[in-house]
Amino acid sequence: MLRYLSDYHTHTYLSGDSQSTLLQNIRAAHRAGLHELCATEHWNLLDQQGNRLPAAYDFGPLLQQWRRLRNRWAGKVEVRVGIELGNSTVDTPAVEQGLQIPQLDFVIGSLHSASLERGGIGIYTAAKKCRCRQDAVELLEDYVLQMEELVQAGTFDVLGHIIYPLRYLPPDYELTLEPWEERLTALMRQIVQAGKGIELNTTQGTTLTQWTWVLERYRQAGGEIITLGSDAHQPGYIGAGFQQALELLEYHGFRWLCTYRRRIPCFHRL
Ligand SMILES: [Zn+2]
Ligand SMILES: [Zn+2]
Repeated sequence: MLRYLSDYHTHTYLSGDSQSTLLQNIRAAHRAGLHELCATEHWNLLDQQGNRLPAAYDFGPLLQQWRRLRNRWAGKVEVRVGIELGNSTVDTPAVEQGLQIPQLDFVIGSLHSASLERGGIGIYTAAKKCRCRQDAVELLEDYVLQMEELVQAGTFDVLGHIIYPLRYLPPDYELTLEPWEERLTALMRQIVQAGKGIELNTTQGTTLTQWTWVLERYRQAGGEIITLGSDAHQPGYIGAGFQQALELLEYHGFRWLCTYRRRIPCFHRL
């Protein structure tokens, strides 16, 4: 049986850190044999320096392209409207207001910056500045605390790239999320109880090893809802690493791959 495949974490030039167009991404998804593509542009509430960014988002430019392309590609690649929300806990009420558009299918809740208490500096920037292992551990501690706050606030459908800081911290520190196991298990139970999910993010086909531990914990917490995303910032990475990711999901006993329509999960047999 042919699997239903979807890339639920993709960026275009509307994200600011990509030059792809939605059409290029759709074509790439078609070439990669995907059935569905969700455009999840960045809406960050903090920049890398920790400055506040607008707590409002104009979906107009994305919707304009989506209206033009969705019918043209219907039956080949379903195109969905998403958003990748970064550090939404900076202003949860404003964000909730901003998400009230009927066309919105899907929300990824991400944390790209440290907490305001730690200056709100970008995790990418902070990770590069770590001078010792203890700095890195403190960054992770702050990250876990922020995930707890985000899950409490609930302004998302899936929690984005849980392993995010591990992408950028010096590999010789050999850091994992294992020291926070108890809290992360509680966090995942909360996600399950709230009817929300997590994503498996292949980081353009490069990161899977750190996910094993996370997927194991999430399954043990009763997690079923999971989306798959490449985090492609270039069309060539759409669907990157999906073969191994699907094998990993099957290995950990996941039965479904989720897509979203108007913020409601749809389950596709793995
Ligand atoms: Zn992200
Ligand atoms: Zn992203």
